[in-house]
Amino acid sequence: MTFRTLQGADLSGKTALVRVDFNVPMENGVVQDDTRLRSALPTIDLLTKAGAKVVLLAHFDRPKGKRVPEMSLKPVVAPLAALAKRDIAWSDDCIGAEAKAVIDRLKPGGVALFENLRYHSGEEMNDPAFAAELAKLGDVYVNDAFSAAHRAHASTEGLAKLLPAYPGLSMERELTALDAALGKPERPVIGIVGGSKVSTKLDLLKNLVTRLDKLAIGGGMANTFLYAMGHDVGASYCEKDLAETAREIIRLAGKNNCKLFLPLDIVVAEQMASGVPTRVRGLGEVDEHERILDAGPESVARLKRAIGNSRTLIWNGPLGVFEIPPFQRATMEAAWHAAELCRDGKLIAVAGGGDTVSALNMAGVTVDFTFVSTAGGAFLEWMEGKELPGVEALKV
Ligand code: ADP
Ligand code: MG
Repeated sequence: MTFRTLQGADLSGKTALVRVDFNVPMENGVVQDDTRLRSALPTIDLLTKAGAKVVLLAHFDRPKGKRVPEMSLKPVVAPLAALAKRDIAWSDDCIGAEAKAVIDRLKPGGVALFENLRYHSGEEMNDPAFAAELAKLGDVYVNDAFSAAHRAHASTEGLAKLLPAYPGLSMERELTALDAALGKPERPVIGIVGGSKVSTKLDLLKNLVTRLDKLAIGGGMANTFLYAMGHDVGASYCEKDLAETAREIIRLAGKNNCKLFLPLDIVVAEQMASGVPTRVRGLGEVDEHERILDAGPESVARLKRAIGNSRTLIWNGPLGVFEIPPFQRATMEAAWHAAELCRDGKLIAVAGGGDTVSALNMAGVTVDFTFVSTAGGAFLEWMEGKELPGVEALKV
């Protein structure tokens, strides 16, 4: 991967069009979580210090080409200004005369946020005319929105081809971490894939077994594998129609020398509810009214050893129903163990996925992990081995 780099670039007096992800959780016009605003700060800081005018471009929600007032980005201005400790100018439109006037009024080192890109249908259509309208406003393009990079939209793809294009600092950090986990990882590299369904993670499993040395499968999707191997799974969540697919993945792993770790033992209960009585069962020992809700202690001990014998860990999907105690146990123990190895400098651990991020936060290990991606869909597509248009467009 070769990218331009912002450090050392001549940006003084230039207008930088910076694609950020400000699609933040919002209630009644109040930002509920400012993680995404914070992650834009390093790039804003670098560009303003270099004397550039900074124009922030973002989408919010899905207005589908119309000006939907509830989907305005304006409520982001005040919290962003507070976090950045500076004024943020505002433009009611992301293209046209007003946008240009706002830029003209900015001093070098000034920052503006423009209204929702998706108020224009050309954004999601990647319309070259709309991309050209954006390009007219700036001298350089910076993409700091990895989480939007799986979309080929005007502001993530088209625009990158019209101006000198740079990854922002958060984008750069994410790409570096992802490359360390799957691109050129230190080996052995182990994956953990869990979560509820095999069906949503087929491409991911197929890609990982060709690239990893070891792969542990957990969560609800492990039930489908156990069933495919002839074990009774009782009343567990299980995609029985995918049994042949599961066997195909097992064969593919064998062909690629990827050692698969399926559960050795499991935690079952008759109901998926907090504090219900649980039992540890061996494979195939599940009664017809029991459900598999977590990995068992032997499986966890073996997984911890396997992580300990690896240099790199890539993780998506919890090992059990971690939202309901006590079925968080396997996920927490694996997370704590990986975190300890990271702290000791023995492991590179990269994780991502909506529920995975929640589980790692619950374990309190997000700071210890090498990188925890909040990019959602873009992270999963990357784990599937797909090219991300927003990343491809930045390559030189
Ligand atoms: P992510 O969002 O990190 O990609 P997923 O959405 O694929 O993860 O999976 C998370 C969900 O999987 C959680 O809600 C969890 O309760 C569920 N899950 C984990 N193990 C099981 C299981 N044994 N049976 C049913 N659901 C499970
Ligand atoms: Mg999820």
